Amino acid sequence: MDDETLALLVDLHKRQPRQGPGGAAETLRAIELAGLGKADGRLRIADIGCGTGAATLDLAKALDADIKAVDFLPAFLKVLEERARAEGVADRIETLAASMDDLPFAEAEFDVLWSEGAIYNIGFEAGIAAWRRFLKPGGVLVASEITWITAARPAAIEDYWNAAYPEIAPASAKIAHLEAAGYAPAGYFVLPEHCWLETYYGPLRAQLPAFIARHEGDAAAAEIAEGERTEIALYEANKAYYSYGVYVARLPG
Ligand code: SAH
Repeated sequence: MDDETLALLVDLHKRQPRQGPGGAAETLRAIELAGLGKADGRLRIADIGCGTGAATLDLAKALDADIKAVDFLPAFLKVLEERARAEGVADRIETLAASMDDLPFAEAEFDVLWSEGAIYNIGFEAGIAAWRRFLKPGGVLVASEITWITAARPAAIEDYWNAAYPEIAPASAKIAHLEAAGYAPAGYFVLPEHCWLETYYGPLRAQLPAFIARHEGDAAAAEIAEGERTEIALYEANKAYYSYGVYVARLPG
């Protein structure tokens, strides 16, 4: 991706409450499935690929925790910092600009690794294997990942996703990868439709006219807006077949 395209994507997405499907109630549901917050003491959490911090802020409000919020885009981290200050949780959150394939963490630094809608950037299998060493024994990984939610699907949507992200698979395959990487799967649920249409695509779609106006005459911006509209239409037509799965898994010990 060239610099201009990246700058345009940042300009569009930094204004969004979140940069991928999800929701506050679903983050809380994952917290509960992970068994967090019950007399754990102060937790050390990394939120990897945090974007503008939708989940980071929900975690900070729900748990007694110190959170390292990591993203490779400083513009997103700046928005996260502003939101954290406005919501009174800035003292619990430290932002860090780093790539998720080269995290500057210590071995066994964290009780919890959290990652919503982001691990696909390095691939689920590679991510869960690479990040494992940053978790304490008994620590928990919570990651959401694009997932087939039925056994069969139309060829067109299968071909689209196999080209976009060949690791897309049913939950059974994702859970098997977690087991193979040494985690004990502890929970799984599917993000409901409103996590796509209301919390993510709704605000995004509403922003597109202003985005196009800010970049009037810019063909690259028009192309990005068209790409977002196509992605939304694809989801609306095929939402019976895929969603994000939320995976909760624990290390032994
Ligand atoms: N967790 C947030 C953002 C999800 S979008 C939410 O749910 O709203 C994915 C995020 O991963 C983006 O913020 C993007 O900047 C970040 N990202 C993509 N590749 C990355 C990489 N290699 N290292 C760190 N962050 C990355």
